[in-house]
Amino acid sequence: MGEHISFEQFINVFKILSKSTDDYLFILDLIEDHYNITDRAAEIFLFDTSDFYNASNIIKNCVYPSDRDMFNKNLELIKNGMITKHDLEYRWLNKNNHPIWISSRGQIIFNDNGKAKYLVGRISELGRKNKIDNITGLYREVRLRQDILNMDRQFSGNGFLLLIGIDNFKDINERYNREIGNETLNGLAKCIIKVTKGKARIYRMSGDEIMIFCKNLSFINDNPAAAMYTEIKAMVDEHIGERYYKLFYTISGGFVYFTEDETIDLNFIEKAEFALRLAKLNGKNMCICYDENEYNEYVYKLEIQEALRKSVENNFEGFTLYYQPIVNMKKACIYGAEALLRWKSKEFGMISPKVFIPLLEESGLIIPVGRWIIEEAMCKCMEWQKKCPYFRVNINISFVQIKKSNVISDIDLFIEKYGIKSDNILFEITESGELDSGCTTQNILESFHSRSLNLAIDDFGTGYSNLRYIKEMMFNLIKIDKAFIKGIKKSHYDYVVVKQFTELAHSLNLMVCYEGVETEEDFKCVKELKPDYIQGFYFSKPVPAKEFEEKYLGKEKIF
Ligand code: C2E
Ligand code: MG
Ligand code: MG
Repeated sequence: MGEHISFEQFINVFKILSKSTDDYLFILDLIEDHYNITDRAAEIFLFDTSDFYNASNIIKNCVYPSDRDMFNKNLELIKNGMITKHDLEYRWLNKNNHPIWISSRGQIIFNDNGKAKYLVGRISELGRKNKIDNITGLYREVRLRQDILNMDRQFSGNGFLLLIGIDNFKDINERYNREIGNETLNGLAKCIIKVTKGKARIYRMSGDEIMIFCKNLSFINDNPAAAMYTEIKAMVDEHIGERYYKLFYTISGGFVYFTEDETIDLNFIEKAEFALRLAKLNGKNMCICYDENEYNEYVYKLEIQEALRKSVENNFEGFTLYYQPIVNMKKACIYGAEALLRWKSKEFGMISPKVFIPLLEESGLIIPVGRWIIEEAMCKCMEWQKKCPYFRVNINISFVQIKKSNVISDIDLFIEKYGIKSDNILFEITESGELDSGCTTQNILESFHSRSLNLAIDDFGTGYSNLRYIKEMMFNLIKIDKAFIKGIKKSHYDYVVVKQFTELAHSLNLMVCYEGVETEEDFKCVKELKPDYIQGFYFSKPVPAKEFEEKYLGKEKIF
């Protein structure tokens, strides 16, 4: 139908339209090779006039050299009637020979013989900003965002985003240099280009990550994203082999599918990033599919972390210490209590320490909170000392406090402030691989020792159960984890381990406490093994300070 409008008539309409748009309107007569574009374009770009014949050649000269191939191919497809729509982003040269990004879109109009006659459309300037990554030659992330936003949702069909990252890329940069790092990234980009064979768009994301955007899949079966990852991996291995293993690396992948029903939006980038993060956390060199539940859990944790931060900022609002009695087995009396942190959030209610303590540790918030715990517990200890001179408060200390804060000077400060005798407090440290490394830990533990502060290994048997700890770290007390105590009645193995371990500790002059004694039956059973102390629901659950004071402080003869 458009063919019946003449070239000149189009131009007349453009003259009117161009007053109300910043875009350049153009028409290309594909048979006559005749071109016309809004006058303003000829003032800016490398054209002498706004109306000329020999169009293919003249326009080509205005195209930035490295985009010429792409431009020619697109023009070929148009002329041969292979496509009906034109949509291309590339660079034109301005009068100063500077490349300017443009978006050119248009419609192809066919004549009665079915031959492509006109290409009619508009060009908008995208600016000078380089949208191509210099290292890999791929599009950048900004472009991916644009592409997702501009995607023709109706026709996008099914597809996926697959994010590929180089494992331990930082090590490559550090061990060799940035150039080798860039070369590696470039090599990976080439492998990806080979595998995708023009069927997907590829973008360089931040750092060592490359995103593959695959759409218009007619249907999704056999997990095409995972299959693509496997193919890329094989290609990378081949590439490394060809270069005689000069530099060996592995890749991880994270992907997310979109379907006709659930169209893609910008959040999908985050989803692919989340899946890749999981692949790296799970040991790298693997590919993981995005999972909604895992993502929600992750977001929930972030929200809790945020709520924890607010509580800390609001003067530790919602935090309290509960106390659980610890029974001295020889004297059958309550000799002390373990201070246990509780947190009630305004938004989330009561949350278990098993959930929020690791989040405090991850975020570093355990440092201010830990300081608050030490002060609170010592303040209580001072009060209770007056009524009950032998009474001892156990305070849990996280490895993060030991490794990343000056916990000893905090302790010194509060001991002095509240006039605490060192024998009235004990610090519990959970056995963990995190503590194992470096001499800092050793120095700090020596500082505890030189101040005659009591130390316990907490949850013994759950972590590394490293006997070297006991020798080198100068603990006074070993708290055997409740998992063993739970198993003791049924499992001969647990029974023997606990029994032998208690004897071993005693022969080394170490005290032993059993955690998690819950029932009368438990109690009868473990009593025989002669622990020095017992702690568990059998005697009491952790309770608020006031309740502890009323029920247990100074109470003689508990059994
Ligand atoms: P933990 O230091 O080993 O504390 C003992 C845990 O065992 C407490 O859990 C206590 O409620 C529980 N428990 C005591 N007796 C029994 C029993 O008979 N049966 C069972 N099933 N459980 C019993 P809670 O309070 O949930 O604390 C969990 C962990 O969170 C603690 O284990 C500790 O690692 C950490 N935590 C708690 N408060 C603090 C704190 O103030 N600072 C630090 N750094 N960590 C803390
Ligand atoms: Mg403890
Ligand atoms: Mg414990």
